[in-house]
Amino acid sequence: MNGKRKILSRYADKSIITFTVNLFNSMKRILLLMFILTQLFSGKAQKDPFSKYPVYSGNDLGITYSPQRSVFKIWAPTARAAELRLYHTGTGPQLAVIVPMVKSKNGTWVTTVFTDQNNKFYTFRVNINGVWSDEITDPYVKATGVNGKRGAVIDHPATNPVNWENDRSPVLQHPTDAVIYELHVRDASIHESSGIKHKGKFLGLTETGTRNPAGQSTGLDHIKELGVTHVHLLPSFDYNSVDESNPDAKYNWGYDPLNYNVPEGSYATNPYDGAVRIKEFKQMVQAFHQQGIGVIMDVVYNHTALTEKSNFNQLVPGYYYRQDKTGKFSNATACGNETASERPMFRKFMLESLLYWVKEYHIDGFRFDLMGVHDIETMNLISGELHKIKPDILLYGEGWTAGVSPLPDAVRAIKANASKLKGIAVFSDDIRDGIKGSVFEHADKGFASGKKGMEQSIKSGITASCPHPQVDYEKVNYSKSAWAASPAQTVSYCECHDNHVLVDKLAISAKEASPEQREQMQRLALSIVLTSQGISFIHAGTEFMRSKKGVENSYESPDSINAIDWRLKADHLDFYKYIQSLIAIRRFHAAFRLQTADAIKEGIRFEENLPEGVVVYRIITKGDGHSSFRVCLNGTADIVDIQTEGNWNTLLRDNRVLFPYPEIKQPEGKMQLAPFSCTILSR
Ligand code: CA
Repeated sequence: MNGKRKILSRYADKSIITFTVNLFNSMKRILLLMFILTQLFSGKAQKDPFSKYPVYSGNDLGITYSPQRSVFKIWAPTARAAELRLYHTGTGPQLAVIVPMVKSKNGTWVTTVFTDQNNKFYTFRVNINGVWSDEITDPYVKATGVNGKRGAVIDHPATNPVNWENDRSPVLQHPTDAVIYELHVRDASIHESSGIKHKGKFLGLTETGTRNPAGQSTGLDHIKELGVTHVHLLPSFDYNSVDESNPDAKYNWGYDPLNYNVPEGSYATNPYDGAVRIKEFKQMVQAFHQQGIGVIMDVVYNHTALTEKSNFNQLVPGYYYRQDKTGKFSNATACGNETASERPMFRKFMLESLLYWVKEYHIDGFRFDLMGVHDIETMNLISGELHKIKPDILLYGEGWTAGVSPLPDAVRAIKANASKLKGIAVFSDDIRDGIKGSVFEHADKGFASGKKGMEQSIKSGITASCPHPQVDYEKVNYSKSAWAASPAQTVSYCECHDNHVLVDKLAISAKEASPEQREQMQRLALSIVLTSQGISFIHAGTEFMRSKKGVENSYESPDSINAIDWRLKADHLDFYKYIQSLIAIRRFHAAFRLQTADAIKEGIRFEENLPEGVVVYRIITKGDGHSSFRVCLNGTADIVDIQTEGNWNTLLRDNRVLFPYPEIKQPEGKMQLAPFSCTILSR
C-alpha cells in the first residue's frame, strides 16, 4: 500500500471502530471468552513461535563509541552471518571497509573497530538462510545521515548545546495541572507571517522576539504568552515520507517511523551531518524549558513505515510484528503492520527508546499513537520505569486501534481498560464528540453547536469520565460507564491534528449559523475543554480560530493547508484573549484541576431541572481562594434564564473575559445566559 492509502484507511477504520465497538463489544467479548475457554480446556492454547528466541538483556545494542574504539552490536538470532559496513558519507558509494561480525551471546552479533570512527557512517547486513539482507540501520541507531539510510557515529556529548547540563524541566505538581498544546514543528513557523527565521525547523521554535505583521508575538513567545504548560510535538523522530534533502517538496505529519531514536532530518538545518539534528533538537527543548514549558513527544511505536523491508524485519524476520492466523502481518494500525509489544525484545526496545529520549533529550512526556495496539503490561512497565527517572512525566495515548488485532482486547491498552493503566491517560472521545459532534459524521452537531440530548456526555466529560452519581451513563454518547479511576487518566479535548479542526467542523455542521454565532460556539467548546476536569489539551491555532480550509485529513496536505497563519491572531485577537484567560483561570484555580475521583464525586454538583441543552454545575472545594464556582453552559440558540441565589463574583460572562475578577455582583433572582455561551461565577 502506498502512504496515502495507508493513512486514509487508518482514518477510515478509526471511524468504523468507534461505531462498531459500541455495537459489537458485548458480542466480541462473549466470543473471545468462549474462544479462550475452548483453547484452555482443549489444551490447545498455542504458544508464540517466537517465544523460543533468546532474549538479550544488555543495554548496549547499537553502538558504544569512544575515540579509542567503537563497539557495534545487533540482535539477529536467526542470522548465519552478519557484517558491518563503514562509509565516509551518509549517502553515496564510498564504502570504506566491510567488517565481519562475530556471533555472541543470546542472539547478538558484535564487532569492535579500534580507530576513531567519529563522523563516519555505517550499515549492517545479515545473512539468514543463505540470503543477505539489504543494507540497513539497526533499530537502536541514535544518529543517521540524510534520510536515515545510514547510521552516523557521533560523539553525543559534543552535541549538547551551551549550558545543557543546567537544563531543567519545569516541575508538574500533578498530571491534571497540565495544559497541553499540540503542534507540528513545520506548521509552527513555515508561514511567512510567523516572522521566524528558521522556518520549518527545530530552531524556529528557539527564536524569541518573533512577530506577525501586526506586531504580535508568534512561535515560542506566543506559546509562552498563551500560558500552556506543555508543548506536544507531532512526530519529530526520523520518519520516512519527507525527503530530507528537499523538505519543501512534500509535507507529512510524520506518522511513518523509520529510526525511532533519531530526530527527523527535515527539521534540521543540515540533515547530512548526523550531529546537527541532535544538537538542534536539544536547543529546541532547552528553549522551551527556559520559558517554563515542558516538551512532549508524539511517539508511534505501533507500526513501522516499512514492513518486509524495515530494519526490524530484515534483522529478525517476523519477530517484531504480530501475525494473523495465516501467518501474515496483522494490521491493527491500518498501516500495513502492527508491532508486537508483548514480545520481550520489542518491549525492551520501546522501553529503552523512551528512556533514551528522556535522558538524552530531557523529554517531559509522551503521547502514544494508537496506544490500543500495545499491551497493558508493556505500558505499565514503561510507565513505572519512566516515572522512576522522572516522577512528573506525562504519559497519555489513543486508547483505540485502527483495525482488529490478534492480541485480545482484555490485555490491550484501550480506553475500556484505562483503569488498569498506571500513570497513563487516554484521550476522551466522549467529551470530544459530545462537544462538537461525531468526527466521522460531518453534519453531526454536538452540545456546543446546539444538538439536544448531549447533556450527559458533557457531564461525563466535565467529571473526566470518573464515576459520578449524577451522570446517566446510558445517555453518554460512547462509554456507557465511567472508565477512568482518576482524572489523571483522562485527556479532555475537542480538537487535535486528526479530523476537521473546530472552525471547519462548525462551518460544515452548523452552516446555517452566522460566522458570529459559530465563533460563540467555538468559545463555548473551548470553555468546556478548559473548565472540565482531567488533563487539558488544545490543538495549535484553535486559540485564534485556525482553519484547514475544510481539509479533514491534512496528513500530507501542503503548507497552504497546514501552516499556522499568524495573521489570524490579529484577526481574532479578542477570541485569543478569551482562550488565554480560560487557561489562566484554570491554572489559577485548583477547582478546575481536581486530583482524585473522590474529589470530583464530592466536589462537583450538577444542578437539576434545567432546560434541554443547558448544563450548570458547582465545584465546591477546600483550600482555593474561592470556595465555590458555578459554571453555566448554554448549548442552545436561545437566551436561557436560570435562577441565582446570593451574590457571586463573575469571572466570565457569556464568553467574555472578566479576569482578573471585577467586583460585579450577580444579584439574586434570574440570570440570563446568552446563546452558545459559558459563564463562570465564584464566591
Ligand atoms: Ca526522515
